[in-house]
Amino acid sequence: MRKLLVAGNWKMNGSTASIEVLMTGILAGAAKSAADVLVCPPYVYLQQVAGLVAGSSVKLGAQDVSLEASGAFTGDVSASMLKDLGCDYVIVGHSERRAIHGESSQAVAQKFLAAQAEGLIPVLCVGETLEEREAGKTMAVVREQFSAVLDLAGIDAMKKAVLAYEPVWAIGTGKTASAEQAQEVHAGLRAVAAAKSDDVAGGLQILYGGSVKPSNAGELFAMNDIDGGLIGGASLQADDFLGICAAG
Ligand code: PEP
Repeated sequence: MRKLLVAGNWKMNGSTASIEVLMTGILAGAAKSAADVLVCPPYVYLQQVAGLVAGSSVKLGAQDVSLEASGAFTGDVSASMLKDLGCDYVIVGHSERRAIHGESSQAVAQKFLAAQAEGLIPVLCVGETLEEREAGKTMAVVREQFSAVLDLAGIDAMKKAVLAYEPVWAIGTGKTASAEQAQEVHAGLRAVAAAKSDDVAGGLQILYGGSVKPSNAGELFAMNDIDGGLIGGASLQADDFLGICAAG
């Protein structure tokens, strides 16, 4: 039985003061959540949030990581630094990193490896654009993104990783994939893993992300292959985020 995970990706939002308020709200309700709860603040607030979540059940994650271990990489943050600050998880391959920062599937796979080398759990994001969906290429696109990691890290690496299906057309647009659309892709991704190991595929948490709200989370999380959510906008309001956590 896979446990539900609800992860908040705060993106480039927040301030010391607003995060204090948000985390007070999340911490007040997270203990009652049957789902595991993860928050991913911007790098500069990781230390603040690490202090706030200490002793609670809420896990801490970062939004990206360098594929390099250390050295002359101005502006980058390494996996060992994230571990040092108390992170358990790190998002890799978010569509905004792929599109805006030109990250290839191979670079994302190297980030995945760098994260695991320091004991971080990567949350690997995959997803198609609207153009790709309309051209019938959804499964080909997500398979290529997932396979780049499987080819480099091997299927056993997915025992300590999370996969997130995030259709690009549903991120921050208010357009959610229907539960059936999402389930179809999740089942397809699980089948890609199962072709290498039934065992690993059976235990793999696959999150859905893209305009998840308290009002649609229940229907999505009820699907067989949807094991929680990666939440952007709605993770910035404690009530909305907790409403999603309670939907499992
Ligand atoms: C995201 O950026 O990972 C995301 C799912 O955003 P939103 O929930 O705002 O669509």
